[in-house]
Amino acid sequence: MTVGVHFLSKSRSYQLFGEIYPRINTTQKVVALTFDDGPTEKVDSVLSILDAKNIKATFFLTGNSIQNRLSETKKIVLAGHEIGNHSYSHNRLIFKSYQSISEEIEKTDSLIRKAGYLQEIHFRPPHGKKLLVLPYYMKRNDRKTIMWDVAPESIPEIANDSKKLANHVIENSKNGSIILMHVMYKGRATSLESLNDIIEGLKNKGFEFKTVSEIINYENT
Ligand SMILES: [Zn+2]
Repeated sequence: MTVGVHFLSKSRSYQLFGEIYPRINTTQKVVALTFDDGPTEKVDSVLSILDAKNIKATFFLTGNSIQNRLSETKKIVLAGHEIGNHSYSHNRLIFKSYQSISEEIEKTDSLIRKAGYLQEIHFRPPHGKKLLVLPYYMKRNDRKTIMWDVAPESIPEIANDSKKLANHVIENSKNGSIILMHVMYKGRATSLESLNDIIEGLKNKGFEFKTVSEIINYENT
């Protein structure tokens, strides 16, 4: 039972209810760059890199950070990037009641709307954790859970070297990959530094960058 619960809570490709995407099944050369957490004081730096490379990314933001930095959130929206919901508090949403899960998600949705974002809002569970009630909420509310298949920062040997981070992403991204990075943190300066190389490297391999909503449309193409 313990093993089952642990597996379910962290599985990137399986949950009991609702649609979950660790990557997109496609033969097209498309990838999605996604950033978790924030917004923080790093927003301008991230946006200027994306702008210089002329690509759009998806930002999974937490409600409490949006509340503290509404103007930065608006900048992300105005720059044409996608905003996703990453919960309000960033606490693990396993073993939580339906009520508290809906509050976490709906409070964050309304803050995202307050920042002027009009498109469909996808969700990524904080810490990548979900079990029973969260997937059930997603299914009941017809929401998609977005995970990832490329997460270089989770590999300790390369996490603090921007070149190695970039090489890992360039070598391991496939058609339909969803790349996860945490560029919003001061402590993740290497991640921010690796962005240019990641984007250039994947472009050189012929990949196009899509937002999460865009890349979902490539499923089974
Ligand atoms: Zn997170």
